[in-house]
Amino acid sequence: MHYIEPHAHMVSRTTDDYERMALAGCEAVCEPAFWAGFDRSSVAGFHDYFSQLTEHEPKRAAKFGLKHFCWLCINSKEAEDVKLAEEVIALIPKFLQRPNVLGIGEIGLNKNSRNELRVLEMQVELAAKHEQLVLVHTPHLEDKLKGTRLILDVLKNDRRIRPERVIIDHVEEHTVEMVLDAGMWAGMTLYPETKCTPARAVDILDVYGNERIWMNSACDWGVSDPLAVPKTAMEMKKRGHLAAGIEKVIFSNPKQFLRQSGKFKV
Ligand SMILES: [Zn+2]
Repeated sequence: MHYIEPHAHMVSRTTDDYERMALAGCEAVCEPAFWAGFDRSSVAGFHDYFSQLTEHEPKRAAKFGLKHFCWLCINSKEAEDVKLAEEVIALIPKFLQRPNVLGIGEIGLNKNSRNELRVLEMQVELAAKHEQLVLVHTPHLEDKLKGTRLILDVLKNDRRIRPERVIIDHVEEHTVEMVLDAGMWAGMTLYPETKCTPARAVDILDVYGNERIWMNSACDWGVSDPLAVPKTAMEMKKRGHLAAGIEKVIFSNPKQFLRQSGKFKV
């Protein structure tokens, strides 16, 4: 098996996780900028984080033959302080030229608040201006449907954003269809407890097919599993999916989407 992990927060994982992912057949790992589990107190904290994602983490991954790519943004959990968000967004352009940066993400909404929406619009503007791919985080549980609708409206309202260059992540049964209908890509996040379990993800593939869809572990500092993608590939095999179909979802699809950045290579 070989696969791409398109969404993992490796700064909060151990080196053993890199080794286990490489042993399981991972060829590249992509790391969206995210909340650290606590609010950073200043713009300098984000500067250091972006340096970590673009300088240090690729070296750590390379020790196991893994390519490391990243996405940059201020996440929605830290978007209530609009002034700080403006300062962080102003930092991003100088990092966009770095060789492992794929685009702007994971932007989106958390509680669907007015300030979050404002910061989302600022970052969609940033992506449009710099012709970047977009990776979107959708809210959890009860806020997900409304949040996904709000996010799709913001993206559709900007004519410069091409839907095939956007991935909406953490889709579930009730949001996947509207994302695919909008012409965007859909990401399923495989969590042991919340979001999609492997069985639910395979159900979604059975219903909606395997075009413009990928799977990720979104492993971070919380309860999560860095091997969720290969484990779900096993679940697909058990349920009779053919090798070519599995390969498409765990390797070819993320490769096809990410190559649009001009930087992604495996
Ligand atoms: Zn994430």
